[in-house]
Amino acid sequence: PSRKLSDFESAGNNIMIAIRTTKKFHQKRLPYLYDTWLNKVNGSNVFLVTDAEDEEYQERSKQLGIHYVVSSLCGESLLWPIPSRWYLCCRTGEALTLMYKPQNIQYDWFCYLDDDIYLIMENLIKLIAKFPKDELSYIGRPGTPWEKPHKVSEKQTLINNSTRKHYHFASGGFYCLSRTILDKIKPWIVGGHNLGDTCRQLLEPDDLTIGCAVELLGGGKLSRTLLFHHHGMNLAKAVNANTLKDQIAIPYGCGQMCKYGGIVDNAIEVPNAAFSFDEDPSRFRSLHCHLYPQATICK
Ligand code: UDP
Ligand code: MN
Repeated sequence: PSRKLSDFESAGNNIMIAIRTTKKFHQKRLPYLYDTWLNKVNGSNVFLVTDAEDEEYQERSKQLGIHYVVSSLCGESLLWPIPSRWYLCCRTGEALTLMYKPQNIQYDWFCYLDDDIYLIMENLIKLIAKFPKDELSYIGRPGTPWEKPHKVSEKQTLINNSTRKHYHFASGGFYCLSRTILDKIKPWIVGGHNLGDTCRQLLEPDDLTIGCAVELLGGGKLSRTLLFHHHGMNLAKAVNANTLKDQIAIPYGCGQMCKYGGIVDNAIEVPNAAFSFDEDPSRFRSLHCHLYPQATICK
């Protein structure tokens, strides 16, 4: 039986979109988002979670109605170029606190995004509508080397009491959690220090820690979707160029994948691309014009 959605839900106004970024990436990565998909969503549901003030992006956010959130509680990433595990977990834990601000109680869903993802919001809204919001939902895509369940190690003291010893996790860049599951695992993951400490106890980064918390501490389960992609895969091969309109989350490879043996310039292929690779290495501008040929940036 199909559930009747309120206009509020079908417009995606019950979904919080939280993008984690850092000041040093603003110039390099944010233009791809602010020039493209962020113009197609209701900005008031989008929270850019960064670590410093930035006049240009505070202004651009204001123009689109996007919340610009500075969280400095986690300090600086000391181990650049590889940020410390505690620091990144702390940043995600801080993003999660937004769900518990009194002005944000209307959100039934928290969707986390890295700053190198193109989101097709209409498709996300349709997908999320299939999940009852009062379930322990966790939606994402397992990382390629980790399609198999991840095993808890003996050192991971926090979950010693769990009878299960395996869990699945949605890999890094993009996943959604229902408020119902968040409420259950709040003490471990909501708040910078809480998630930082949980990661430290589990000896895992934030995506694995969240998977472990959902499945072993909260009794939830990862629902897989093949419409979310991450740059741990060969994007030109993995994303069929004829299906771009149906996808939800499309990244490009610009992070550690580029530097540590991943595919250099990992990006989707866009048919009849409006921009050359030099003009648009992420391919996000070309993708945007493929989806919305009338958009102002399209030639
Ligand atoms: N990030 C951050 N602080 C840092 C480094 C990275 O908040 O010091 C964020 C970054 O903006 C992105 C996410 O963490 O949203 C993943 O970073 P990146 O894409 O560089 O790494 P990879 O995807 O290769 O793990
Ligand atoms: Mn990345």
